[in-house]
Amino acid sequence: MPFLTEQWGNASSAYQFGQRVRAHLDEARAKVAALVNAEPKEIVFTSCGTESNNSAIHSALALNPGKRHVVTTAVEHSANRKYGEFLQRRGYEVSYLPVESDGSLDIHLLDQSIRPDTAMVSVMWANNETGVVFPIEEAAALCRSKGVLFHTDAVQVPGKLKLDVRATGVDFLSLSAHKLHAPKGIGALYVKRRTRYQPYVMGGHQERGRRGGTENVPYIVGFGRAAELALAHLEEENTRVRELRDRLEQTLLANIPNCTRNGAREPRLPNTSNLAFEFIEAEAALMLLDQVGICASSGSACTTGAVEPSHVLTAMGVSPMRARGSLRFSLGLYTTAVEVDHLLQHLPGIIAKLRAISPLNAAHPDNDRFDLASARRKREQARNAWAGEDGEPNAGAN
Ligand code: PLP
Repeated sequence: MPFLTEQWGNASSAYQFGQRVRAHLDEARAKVAALVNAEPKEIVFTSCGTESNNSAIHSALALNPGKRHVVTTAVEHSANRKYGEFLQRRGYEVSYLPVESDGSLDIHLLDQSIRPDTAMVSVMWANNETGVVFPIEEAAALCRSKGVLFHTDAVQVPGKLKLDVRATGVDFLSLSAHKLHAPKGIGALYVKRRTRYQPYVMGGHQERGRRGGTENVPYIVGFGRAAELALAHLEEENTRVRELRDRLEQTLLANIPNCTRNGAREPRLPNTSNLAFEFIEAEAALMLLDQVGICASSGSACTTGAVEPSHVLTAMGVSPMRARGSLRFSLGLYTTAVEVDHLLQHLPGIIAKLRAISPLNAAHPDNDRFDLASARRKREQARNAWAGEDGEPNAGAN
């Protein structure tokens, strides 16, 4: 609040009123750097995680004009996917690595995907829908050995798992402040020391010339404080939230028939649970949950007015019916045991009620059409086709 009221000076102005504010900005930068074990100079504040992701890829391509290939995964957040699609429309090649049925990533596929013209590999640290954690240290080491820049979208990770840019050796890492209870609309990009960087937002000299635009000091200070708290309470919060999540998940899996987990049990973020409830529409369950004060997400996205199964669950080979009946529960710092009990008390009844009236329960056309074995076969074929018979990656395959 003081930075919205009394100390509203421009941190980039030379007069004392601005420079006093600058000191707080520097302090916040040091706190965000500490969160990921970086140096303060390696942190560039951005407007959000999306901007950080776009900026990293933009820089790699802008500084390597001869390289027109990017590798990413089929399960990235739209903050990466949409940029990849834009690049494809501009004539770049983007390889989307497939994932296994438990949402994990086979590092050998990444190995096969890297080509002499690969400018960057961008693989998320942890998936926002399933919580599944990818082998970032191995991926970064592989890219380093091949001289390719490596970026990771770590937006879901701070406050939940330890982040260490030194130990993992990543070149770029994206953060978004609101995932750690700081204000929305502020993010950061870690840019490894001595890594060449081409700004995405060009203008003034702010952020040592790496991101133009007057600094959003109140939000940056909030981000710094949240980073400090997230780091200080990481261990205890991680354990507490994991216990709550596991109780929630195990109770539902044990008590609701035809309920399965989407994604591997481990390695996974401690706070995420993505469960498929057959024969229901998740959107209907969300509405009923909302009526009893429970906020959750579904495994679907509303695209052009139609409910489409999520791209993450689809990439894992989850059937459309199960994907459409998938609910995602995200726990956090403020989630209590009483709230988990509240969910456990209401959800079984909601699922039972929806199943009783569900056309999916009987002869829904999708149920007849969908054949799990053939879906798995198709995913396997996609995976093989992707690597190519001669072991050469087939760029652009999805
Ligand atoms: N990446 C991941 C994995 C996310 O979960 C999100 C937001 O939910 C983003 C990127 C985008 O972050 P922002 O909303 O700050 O742009």
